[in-house]
Amino acid sequence: MILGERCTRNCRFCAVRHQPESMPDPEEAGRVAEAVVILGLRYAVVTSVTRDDLADGGASFFAETIRRIRESSPKTLVEVLIPDLQGNWQALRTIIAAGPDVLNHNIETVAGLYPEVRPQALYQRSLELLRQTKKINAHLPTKSGMMLGLGETHPELVQTWHDLLLSGCDILTMGQYLQPSTDHLPVHRFLPPEEFAELQQEALDAGFSGVASGPFVRSSYQAEKLYRQAVSRIQKSA
Ligand code: SF4
Repeated sequence: MILGERCTRNCRFCAVRHQPESMPDPEEAGRVAEAVVILGLRYAVVTSVTRDDLADGGASFFAETIRRIRESSPKTLVEVLIPDLQGNWQALRTIIAAGPDVLNHNIETVAGLYPEVRPQALYQRSLELLRQTKKINAHLPTKSGMMLGLGETHPELVQTWHDLLLSGCDILTMGQYLQPSTDHLPVHRFLPPEEFAELQQEALDAGFSGVASGPFVRSSYQAEKLYRQAVSRIQKSA
């Protein structure tokens, strides 16, 4: 996770600390690249806190991190899990120009729960980010993730899948929401593993090229496997 430990937003499901006190560290990209080398990673997922205090939302730091990983580990695949950049599509272009292998942006939940779950985010803006990504580079696989058990209904979930698919989203992850502390949103429902398995099949049938769905699935769950499955399906259908 880059851009520091503190976030400018206050999502009701997230335990990350708030109010960044400092500018991001310009040496961070180099250290991330070094860690990728030391760990011998074949696949790296780079994410960040949200930095609405920075003019480009931290896009230049994402781009630099991708470039430094490429330089020192040319065979490593790089997925970026990015914030919504407040709809700054020039900043999005900066990240895409650095050449990530997957562009991930989590929709997190259904539209009706946004005010409660992601009060500083906009459902349509997150969809637009995925749409813009495909406009900038139609060949770049896109990915999004959802937390389940926050009170969403099945029709709302299916509607969100369709909205994501219409925005060009290729890969979907779905996992159980867990309450990080009593100050955070409570769990509305625990879905059994069988239901996650059914939803996985349903989402694949709806049109996603790759879906991971299970109680412990998170955005980076088996990310390389999911990426390879999705790319092979995309190539077969092309
Ligand atoms: S924007 Fe991301 S890091 Fe910040 S509070 Fe929300 S989920 Fe947590």
